[in-house]
Amino acid sequence: MSKLRLSAEIRQKYQAVIGLEVHVQLQVKSKIFATEAFTFGSEPNEHISVITLAHPGALPSINGACVQQALKMGLATHCHIPTATYFARKNYFYPDLPKGYQLSQAENPICQNGYLDVPMPDGGLHRIRIERIHLEEDAGKSIHDLDERDTLIDLNRAGAGLIELVTYPDLRSADEACAFMAEIRKLVRYLGVGDGNMEQGNLRCDANVSVMLKTATEYGTRVEVKNLNSINYLGKAINYEIERQIALIENGGEVRQSTRTWQVSTGTTQLMRDKETADDYRYFPEPDLQPLRISREQLAQLQEALPVLPAALYERYTQELGLSYLEAMALVEQASTARYFDALLEQKLEARVAYNWLMGPVKSYLNEHQLETEAFPVEPARLAALIRLVEGGKVSHNAARERLLPAMMLHAEAEPAHLARELNVLMESNTTAIAQAMEALMQEFPDEVARYRNGRKGLMGFFVGKIMKAFKGKANPKEVNQVVKSQLEAKN
Ligand code: ADP
Ligand code: MG
Repeated sequence: MSKLRLSAEIRQKYQAVIGLEVHVQLQVKSKIFATEAFTFGSEPNEHISVITLAHPGALPSINGACVQQALKMGLATHCHIPTATYFARKNYFYPDLPKGYQLSQAENPICQNGYLDVPMPDGGLHRIRIERIHLEEDAGKSIHDLDERDTLIDLNRAGAGLIELVTYPDLRSADEACAFMAEIRKLVRYLGVGDGNMEQGNLRCDANVSVMLKTATEYGTRVEVKNLNSINYLGKAINYEIERQIALIENGGEVRQSTRTWQVSTGTTQLMRDKETADDYRYFPEPDLQPLRISREQLAQLQEALPVLPAALYERYTQELGLSYLEAMALVEQASTARYFDALLEQKLEARVAYNWLMGPVKSYLNEHQLETEAFPVEPARLAALIRLVEGGKVSHNAARERLLPAMMLHAEAEPAHLARELNVLMESNTTAIAQAMEALMQEFPDEVARYRNGRKGLMGFFVGKIMKAFKGKANPKEVNQVVKSQLEAKN
């Protein structure tokens, strides 16, 4: 792994400036300008039509479902949505782009000037402004490694609907960029706009990175690192690029506007091409599509139907429930986890108690079986009943976790209290028996009693342990503690 060496002192002189361009593969049934299906796992070139293949005279038409997805994303990021939006041809050659241009948007995109508040590890929210979100189509896939001599082309993906979201250069470090991307991924999933799967390329981003002296008043020249398909790579690519640019400038060089790619194998970025400007694409209005009108009624309906968003949950968990940044982020990461947590709260459990059970025993079960919270076999109401048994001192935490919970997963109908009785894990509430046991112990260990009374308070655990053992874990620990303490402290 190549590492550029910059002294901390030199690194300190510079400020990094970052803007992201994020592509989201839209979760819809058919392509954006054609009616054939868009699905994964089909035979190559199974889903193509005269439109995708760019036969002369074939006319595109817009898929309303893609429009809805873009609008949902725009509403969730507080964008301005114009009453009419336009499509444009972006001309360039790719072997897997039969038309020779990509249908996209240039002027007046569907969503404009929004923002996303991103929770940062310091607990604060950073507002990152979004310049635009536009609709466009994906290209096909060129496959270079299946045939010895030829590149094979699969056009199933050609014409699939995408949105591109472009931020202002508001991000200042790799960590901030990663936090932003994680927030976008969550948003996309909560809204059902896409599946957010970065490994499969269904969510990917380009990072624009520049550096400037902290004393400078203008941004430096940016370099674009293309197609980062994990948050981890995004962070590494940005950090590498920051250091590379600083080293270049420190050695008297100059950053040229260009496009680079991230090399996983070396952990470096590599020059792909000098950056083309918008002029090179010869954008021009798509003559075969009408301007797309967006009615205020449609917008209002979509706004109404938006689900609770991660930002609102994060705020409620940290502000109202007093959870920490990490705790709130863990709950909010998946909508199903947050829903389950909220269902536990509805059962009148304390937030802290609900959190500990959900992120402890439930989470380890899910991890072990590689499941989402949705698939957890115990309904929130039943888990709450189990938790109440523990809180009420009826079942020990250990027995609840190790025996009762697994039994509840196997017997979906059985009452937790009933199961606890059958499993023989109900704790006996028997103050008299505990008190008698303690009296016997105090006679057996007079030295320990004396030492306790002389200030060795830790010896309380000695007596508690002995009683718990005698009762084979079925004595209620709170009760035992109380009895032991009161007898040790009793004046005699
Ligand atoms: P293009 O369309 O050619 O890619 P844009 O002006 O749309 O160019 O900018 C693309 C991205 O680059 C945006 O995310 C923007 O925030 C970011 N960006 C612009 N200037 C800078 C800069 N000096 N440093 C870092 N990022 C920048
Ligand atoms: Mg761009």
